[in-house]
Amino acid sequence: MEKTNIRAYTQKELAEILVQNGEKAFRAKQIWQWLWQKGVTCFDDMTNLSKETRERLASLFILQTGTITHKQESSDGTTKLGFTLPDGNLIEAVLIPSRDKATACVSSQVGCKLKCSFCATGGLGFTRNLLPEEIFDQVVAVKRLAEERGTSLSNIVFMGMGEPLLNYNNVIQAIERITGNDGLGMSPSRLTLSTSGITEGIRRLADDGVRFNLAISLHSAINATRDKLMPITGHTRYRNWLKRSNISSAKRGSARLLNIYYSKV
Ligand code: SF4
Repeated sequence: MEKTNIRAYTQKELAEILVQNGEKAFRAKQIWQWLWQKGVTCFDDMTNLSKETRERLASLFILQTGTITHKQESSDGTTKLGFTLPDGNLIEAVLIPSRDKATACVSSQVGCKLKCSFCATGGLGFTRNLLPEEIFDQVVAVKRLAEERGTSLSNIVFMGMGEPLLNYNNVIQAIERITGNDGLGMSPSRLTLSTSGITEGIRRLADDGVRFNLAISLHSAINATRDKLMPITGHTRYRNWLKRSNISSAKRGSARLLNIYYSKV
């Protein structure tokens, strides 16, 4: 039987597979906690499971993670972590310190297809979407680094490589694992998703009633200038976003806070 990615399953699906393979259903909850609360990266680290169960897991599933292959710290403590993913692709996450707290800036895609003129990632082109666990692992890695430094992870921003709303389903699933009580349990109010203005994605956020913050990178209020900086604007004129995204009438419970980012380029 071909091994499958253990982190691709819901807890209920995992319980069903375990029962089919002679394990008790309650093991799924224990395994889930190791995967999504403790962020372990190998079955042998699941120390409240018997050796036999761990071996069974290893015969049924794969548990793959990226490896931190690059670390670059600046004088203010800001630290860039470069990950080599199992397929050889490279992504980055950044720890941004502030007093006794830290913010994680995470990537959502390998490369980006939007080609904003000021952005190195845009120049790389697009390779693929990140899986939910590949986004989650970045948060765990930055959280561990912050804790090693005696601080705690207080905020997460999706401002790394990629346009998160073009990887909607995987980003939302990662956020569920990061904010869920059966995951890392971080408050959604501490999480900000930044978009260049993907109208369809903004509308879906409103429809889905998400509880995290949304930031829109404006960079210029003049459409012609914005067109040059961010070619995506050719079909998402910012004046029309709110109207076309339905965000002004976003349902109660939808994205809590809308920030407009304007940086001088
Ligand atoms: S959307 Fe973000 S990652 Fe993509 S090219 Fe623009 S600034 Fe870079």
